[in-house]
Order: sequence, then structure tokens, then C-alpha cells
Amino acid sequence: MPESNTSMDKIVSLAKRRGFVFQSSEIYGGQAGAWDYGPMGVELKNRIARFWWKEMTQLHDDIVGLDASILMHPKVWEASGHVENFTDPLVDCKKCKQRFRADQIDPDKLARKECPECGGELTDTRKFNLMFKTNIGPVDDGSGLIYLRPETAQGIYVNFRNIVQSNRMKIPFGIAQIGKAFRNEIVTKNFIFRTCEFEQMEMQYFVKPGEDEKYFEYWRGQRWAYYEKLGIHMDKLRWHRHGPDELAHYAKDAYDIEYEFPMGFKELEGVHNRTNFDLTRHQQFSGKDLQYIDQDNGNERYIPFIIETSAGLTRQLLMVLCDAYEEQKVADKGNDDDFRTVLHIHPIIAPVTVAVLPLMKKDGLAELAHSIRNELKEDYSTDYDQSGAIGRRYRRQDEIGTPYCVTIDYQTKEDGTVTVRDRDSMAQDRVQASALPEYLRAKIKSYKRA
Ligand code: ATP
Repeated sequence: MPESNTSMDKIVSLAKRRGFVFQSSEIYGGQAGAWDYGPMGVELKNRIARFWWKEMTQLHDDIVGLDASILMHPKVWEASGHVENFTDPLVDCKKCKQRFRADQIDPDKLARKECPECGGELTDTRKFNLMFKTNIGPVDDGSGLIYLRPETAQGIYVNFRNIVQSNRMKIPFGIAQIGKAFRNEIVTKNFIFRTCEFEQMEMQYFVKPGEDEKYFEYWRGQRWAYYEKLGIHMDKLRWHRHGPDELAHYAKDAYDIEYEFPMGFKELEGVHNRTNFDLTRHQQFSGKDLQYIDQDNGNERYIPFIIETSAGLTRQLLMVLCDAYEEQKVADKGNDDDFRTVLHIHPIIAPVTVAVLPLMKKDGLAELAHSIRNELKEDYSTDYDQSGAIGRRYRRQDEIGTPYCVTIDYQTKEDGTVTVRDRDSMAQDRVQASALPEYLRAKIKSYKRA
């Protein structure tokens, strides 16, 4: 594994420079807790989402998808426990007016009510609900109170009955969903790690009580294998099992997969055994029967247990950038360009799969390059660049993680061959332009990160 030379500042700077992530409303000074995904960022985000979707649905016969709305009946959040319990303990400094999470400051200072920043007096700890509230309907008198969902999972639980009936699903089965979630987070540092608006990729797997432990282990294995397949440095991942003080009151067991970000090991996703808590609560609050009827077993009725795999899409994008980032010494001539910054993103999720670069604009090379790009477009996401020295153009592509660069030169005019430069090894192959789609397909399929 290459030496880690990643700092969050470098990631933030590259992300801005190359159009991955911008501060929200930047020209107005920015909006805390919100970020915009630029041309490279949206491609990367969409591709991670697509990869997850394929892994979870296409490759699992017993998982179906859902896209529930962000606005849900307010009772959903009473049933889920979010109205009562989805809180952070907060203290305010009476002097400097800063707000802190009580669980994140030194316990001695908290006991003395001493501000960690200015030494001023802190208020008592108060519970602060993380849900964003808004109002629906024409009158603003509180009767139209509605929440922006703080997680996508509840949209799955409330559709359990619909999906069993409409798609004749038999337990065990899962429902997958990707979508936005909103939390009024007070501490939003570390770039896109913790934001007020973010995206989740959640899968809820419904099982018969008694089979939950078996499937819990199964899903732990699947989720670990997912990162292996994405080519992530596995020595930067670890499991964290929730201790008794962390475990939600309804959960039987819970593990987080943590990644070693530049600021240390932090949660990437959770795999939780949620018991039958969720459907029991929704049955109580809605008055609807949410039992599963097992027609293969004498119409036995029960409320299923749920194994949840809950990942943050935007957080995963940050992890991919951190994991892929490398500053590499590629020459020793005492020049600035002895170094390159390269993102070793897996070709399956790289924003641009192949860049087409004519060596020169003139002598018909640009036209030839355009026609080769047009051929590749149908199957791959492509980029075209004809400006500047070829070495510079390779470096630009390295910085956005483009795994393959196809260069068109004078020989192309003679024999129809092009060079393909591999991002990671920088090695070049000469291949027939007409064979490129197949060549690239084979390279992507056999990709292994060095
Ligand atoms: P934390 O303890 O860090 O606040 P959590 O345990 O409440 O997170 P979950 O509710 O389990 O998180 O959410 C599942 C996943 O959603 C997390 O593993 C993370 O990847 C992502 N996530 C949660 N909150 C945020 C946020 N504010 N910004 C970005 N991603 C988030």
C-alpha cells in the first residue's frame, strides 16, 4: 500500500479545483452543512449509487427497490421515536455564545460548566432535536407541521405491507432505497463527512424471528465484501461493535464499519439488528396489521425482525476520495512535474472512464480523435482534451481519476492504432482503435488496485 499522504485540506482543495464538490452558495459566503456536487462529483456520486444499487438489488434476487417521498406523515416520526429521542445534548456558552455537543467536550469542564473555548459559563445541558421542521399547506398556524426525513429507513417500513402484497415478496426479503436525508447537525466540520443535507443508501432485510442472528452475520459479510470489490484499502476499515451504552434500546446487536479518514477512524455505515421494534411501533401508531402471513407454514403470523444496512452515500464519496488520493513521485529531475497527484478510483465508479487526447490538433488528428470518442461514448463516460502538452493532459486526467487515456498520433493515421495509457501504472499499450471497446471492457473487469 502506498504511504498515506492525504490530509483533509488537500482533499477539499482537489475537490474544488477539479469540480467534485463546492461550498453551497459560495458567492454568498457559503451555507454551513451544505455542499454542491460539481460535474465530477455528481458523476462519482451517481456511479457509487449505481454500484451499490446493483450490488444490493441486481445481485440479490430477494431485494427490491423503493423511492419513498421525503415528506411523510408526522406520526411516522412519533412511531419511530424520532420526535422523542432523536436529540443531541447541547450546551451554550453565555459569554462567547458558541454551542457545543455536551458529549463532545471534556467531562471535567462540563461538570464545572466551563466553556472549552473561552472559559465562560455554560448553560445546563438541553436536548436539541435534529429534525428539520417545516410547514405544509396554506396556513402557518402549526397545524401543518411536517418534518424533512432524517433517514430513509422509515419510508421502507411504512411500505412493508404494500410491497409484500404488490410484489408477492416472501420472507426473507429486503427493500433498498437511496435518497436524501436531513439533520440539523450542530457540528458540521470535516468537509462532507457530516452535513445537514446528505444522501443515504439503506437496505432493510425482513426475517423471521429466530433467523435474525444468521442473517445479521450474512449481511455483515456482504457489506465487508462490498468495499473489497470497490478496491478500498481493507486495512483502513474496521468493525466497531456497539457497546451496551451505545446500543439503541430496541437493537439486539449493532456494528459499524469504520474507515480511517484523515481525522481518524469514523463511522462509514451501520449494520444493525433492529428486532421487530419498527414494524411493531408502526402497527401500534397506524392501527394497521403489519404482521407477515407465512403461507408456506400454515399461515403463521408474525412481525418480522429487521436487519438494516445503512450507509451514507455522500460520506462514502468522501471515503473514496480519501482512499484514492495519492501524491506520487514519478521522476527525479528536480522539476515541479516530478510529482503527480492521482486518484486511484476503481474504473467502475470513476467519473470519466476514458479520455481521448489527440497528440496535435492539426493534420486531421483532432477529427480522428472526435470520431474515436464518438464510438466510445455509447458504452463509456468520456472526456476530450486537445489543449496543452500531452504530459499536462495526463496529469489533469490523473487528478480526476480517469483510469484510461487514449492518445491519437500520426501512426493512428497510418495503421489505425492508438495508445492506451493506464492511470495507475502509467504503462502504455498500442491497440487497434476498433478494438478499444472490448479492450477497455476486459481491463475494467480485471482491474485490481496495486
Ligand atoms: P452519527 O453517530 O455519526 O451522527 P448515526 O449513527 O446517527 O451517525 P445513522 O443514523 O446510523 O448514523 O446513519 C447511517 C449512515 O448515514 C451513517 O453511517 C453515515 O454514513 C450517514 N450519515 C448519518 N448522518 C450523516 C450526516 N449528518 N452527514 C452525512 N452522512 C451521514
